[in-house]
Amino acid sequence: MSQDPGQLRYRGRCVECPWVGRQFVRYRLADAAARHHTNAHHHTTCVVDQYDLRIAGSMVRPGGARKA
Ligand SMILES: [Zn+2]
Repeated sequence: MSQDPGQLRYRGRCVECPWVGRQFVRYRLADAAARHHTNAHHHTTCVVDQYDLRIAGSMVRPGGARKA
C-alpha cells in the first residue's frame, strides 16, 4: 500500500531536540512514532500537522508524567 504524499498529514516533533518524525497519513502512526522517540530519549514530543502550525494531539511526556 503506497502513500500519496499529498495525503500525509501528521508527524511527530520533539520539543527538546531537532527530531521530527516521518510523515504519516494516520494520526495514530505519527503519534506512535512520537511516543517511540519519547521512550527512547526521554524527550517531550507532540504531533503536528503538515504545515507545522498546529499541534494535532496532546503532548507526550516521558514516563507519562506531566511537567508543570
Ligand atoms: Zn528529542
